[in-house]
Amino acid sequence: MNEPFDFLVIGAGLVGCALARELARYEARVAVVEQNWDVGDGVSKGNSSILHTGFDAKPGTLEARLVSEGHRLWNEQADELGVPIERVGAVMLALDEEQLQALARYFENAHKNGVKDVERLSAEQALARVPHANPAALGGLWIPRESITCTFTACIALAEHAAVNGAQFFLGARVTNIERIEGLYRVTTTQGQHYARWLANSAGLWGDTIAGMLGRNGFTITSRKGEFLILDKTARAYVPHILLPVPTRISKGILAAPTLNGNVLLGPTADDIEDKNDTSVSADGLGRARRGALQLMPVLAHEPVVATYAGLRPASSTGEYVLEVDAQTNQIVTAGIRSTGLSAAPAIALEVMRRLGAAGALPHLKKSLVPRPVRVWATGRVRPCFDPSRLCENPDFGQILCLCETVSRAEITQAIHAPIPATTLDGIKKRTWATAGRCQGFYCTAAIMQTMSDELGRPLTALTKRGPGSEVIAPDEPHA
Ligand SMILES: Cc1cc2nc3c(=O)[nH]c(=O)nc-3n(C[C@H](O)[C@H](O)[C@H](O)COP(=O)(O)OP(=O)(O)OC[C@H]3O[C@@H](n4cnc5c(N)ncnc54)[C@H](O)[C@@H]3O)c2cc1C
Repeated sequence: MNEPFDFLVIGAGLVGCALARELARYEARVAVVEQNWDVGDGVSKGNSSILHTGFDAKPGTLEARLVSEGHRLWNEQADELGVPIERVGAVMLALDEEQLQALARYFENAHKNGVKDVERLSAEQALARVPHANPAALGGLWIPRESITCTFTACIALAEHAAVNGAQFFLGARVTNIERIEGLYRVTTTQGQHYARWLANSAGLWGDTIAGMLGRNGFTITSRKGEFLILDKTARAYVPHILLPVPTRISKGILAAPTLNGNVLLGPTADDIEDKNDTSVSADGLGRARRGALQLMPVLAHEPVVATYAGLRPASSTGEYVLEVDAQTNQIVTAGIRSTGLSAAPAIALEVMRRLGAAGALPHLKKSLVPRPVRVWATGRVRPCFDPSRLCENPDFGQILCLCETVSRAEITQAIHAPIPATTLDGIKKRTWATAGRCQGFYCTAAIMQTMSDELGRPLTALTKRGPGSEVIAPDEPHA
């Protein structure tokens, strides 16, 4: 039998990685198993990258409390983790009388949730803040601490901080069976077996499947798809703040938001779907996302689209976060973290630690922690190729492979040799933004793959977009 882990986390999304990071602060053997070939490749890669204050959450709920705490924790820890945050603020816009009345309720709601810096705006004040917003707006709310971040960086940073402090990550390892044997869990994955004293179910859309393997059938998870369009950087000047609609009954609604990288995001839609693997986009969904956002800002109709994507919200049948720490069975559940998990992840992890502490299940804290290694570039920051001292240090910072996003060979190399290495093209994109620009990899993919092949020591035919089955070059295809 392999030496048992003290804690084994299933799922390397934002929540599982935040939990692994908290657990790695203790004298414990911690493992994370993830079916994808990179961390943050599930729900956590397809969101709006907004750090919510929780102003619009249902007062008194666990979600309201943890979103608010998570917002604070991210702001406190962002520098240490190397996670960029830009406090752009949000304007919620009312476009008819009914929405104007709803704004009053959201204002009160924000105060009930302790978000007391929210202000009501007249139509003139709203348009002064966002001059290109729909001139038919009747009024708005100003939520100054709503912020934008990069969900990729956030998840990778949490995972890397856990990894450098001893947490072991097993990627490409899908959990297929769980048994309880002599007080331990035996977890069978597509890449072998592990034993653990405690098990954390942080499996996102598959939280109910993992719960079923453990004989817990208290909730089901369904997927609610959100489709997005990314506009070219020419659109950014029109969108100084996050522009929010008045939420609908089922979702926060379709927004227009600046991204840290200088683009503008339109979306998401909210459609309940059966297939938890279906992250395709459709003409219908993208059309609705675009029309929804154009109601807030019609001038964006003229801006070119550079990319589209879809994310799936894991909606639980309980309508709330499912968060449990069961000291009888040594199980932790963090499920149904639907549309606010980026913001709440650090607080969800801390809440689990509080409950583990109360159950007397935490070992001693480590005397000191290893910091996450500093990256030369974080999303939205100035590229190292513009820094002469960096160029003197390593001329590869001047060898630009991705022209649209100005990504150098040295940044790609650094991503490949990071504590959680980028081993796929999507992994490189998530860490460096290479291929995410206007050409979407048309001009740079070959050069990036050559660098990956050199650095990883793998033939070009073995390189994939997101793991086995997504090879970029067919083995018998001629290539340079
Ligand atoms: C359209 C959309 C917009 C959103 N916008 C925002 C926003 O702006 N701000 C915000 O705060 N939140 C937002 N969210 C919510 C946020 O993205 C989620 O709450 C968060 O990503 C959930 O993280 P997670 O770790 O629970 O799930 P995941 O990221 O899905 O992690 C679970 C992991 O478990 C793995 N797994 C599952 N089954 C197995 C198995 N059998 N074996 C091994 N591994 C397994 C999966 O592969 C996955 O990687 C949005 C979500 C969507 C979809």
